[in-house]
Amino acid sequence: MSTLIPILKTVVLQKGKERSLLRRHPWVFSGAILRFEPSEPEEGELVTVNMVNGNTIGVGYYQHSSIAVKMLLFGAAQLPTNFWQTSIFQAFNARKNLGLTESDVTNCYRLVHGEGDNLPGLIIDVYNNHAVIQCHSWGMYLHKEEIQNALITTFGDRLKSIYDKSAETLPQYSGLKAENGCLWGEDVDSTIVLESQNKFEINWKTGQKTGFFIDQRENRKLLADISKGKSVLNTFCYSGGFSVAAINAGAEYVHSVDSSSKAIDLTKTNLQLNNASETANTCFAQDTLHFLKSSSENYDIVILDPPAYAKNQRVKHNAVQGYKRLNFEGIKKVKPGGLLFTFSCSQAIDRQLFYDTVVAACIESGRSGKVLYHLSQPADHPVNIFHPEGAYLKGLVLQID
Ligand code: SAH
Repeated sequence: MSTLIPILKTVVLQKGKERSLLRRHPWVFSGAILRFEPSEPEEGELVTVNMVNGNTIGVGYYQHSSIAVKMLLFGAAQLPTNFWQTSIFQAFNARKNLGLTESDVTNCYRLVHGEGDNLPGLIIDVYNNHAVIQCHSWGMYLHKEEIQNALITTFGDRLKSIYDKSAETLPQYSGLKAENGCLWGEDVDSTIVLESQNKFEINWKTGQKTGFFIDQRENRKLLADISKGKSVLNTFCYSGGFSVAAINAGAEYVHSVDSSSKAIDLTKTNLQLNNASETANTCFAQDTLHFLKSSSENYDIVILDPPAYAKNQRVKHNAVQGYKRLNFEGIKKVKPGGLLFTFSCSQAIDRQLFYDTVVAACIESGRSGKVLYHLSQPADHPVNIFHPEGAYLKGLVLQID
């Protein structure tokens, strides 16, 4: 039997504001709170969430933000001390069931995907048995020791290191400070991973996010299936995930574009690592729109995978305009009968809106097209059915005639 973690404060909701939580949506907005008992919790502090009639909804952590509580457990007023161990173990088991933890062809995967694993605010990516933790809230960060211990127990001897990269992702408003650093194991910067047998060097200390965009794994596989003999333009290439997938699958050549010269260096490293010809597979450190407008070449396959244009609802309109302009220019670079792989990772842009935007760009370009695939995030980035906002990655493959 696990003992319980003492929880000292309670958040009482206004009447009627419990509804979304009773449907197990894991967020309490600040406007839903009636009162605190006995007083307002500290940033990140564990709290019990109650209905106004005194009934318990569950346990979460508090933050001084518009999302005031993120829920960790429903139907209990306390958190068992083995909560972290159980949650990490469940997440690991889910990846094991997907064949990701023992695979000979892929040894990088997302172990914990926030709300999708009932651990809001926590991301853990695993690169060849090096775990990289990114906390997006103090409520998670305050438990990093428990998370670390849970990783050590779950992985056993195979775990090589745990690196905490939360400094950039923790909210700034609280005034609290965190530093990145190795929490456990050998303090190395990087490793070489396999993704669908393709090799990538991942540096979690200097790379974007935790070092690699694992979420495009299945979409890179699809590209590999259809890129033999094709000319490919990979824009917003970061470390060349799509470029390497296409080259190793026999693409004639790939041009890779990213505005960050550091990203272009990573792409070059990864192309070399996979013995791709440096002369045929040119990399361009350029703004994508500039490249699309100034280059005279057309391609069999064009990939558009921009960063999130809409970080929140307020900027949704501008983001839609941005996606439309980008897709309009991208479509022009597709040879007749060729393919457009186009993505949005903006949470605020839903699948239908993205579809409509791409279709509008296609119509405006004067080309006709067919939708061949609807793409999304892979199974190690699961979407909690009670938190549909978790479905952030949308993609389409269109044949452009
Ligand atoms: N497709 C990549 C992930 C893309 S992340 C993969 O599979 O790994 C988005 C990338 O877009 C980042 O590398 C960022 O440096 C780049 N970027 C952001 N704005 C850009 C712009 N205007 N033009 C070109 N690249 C840009």
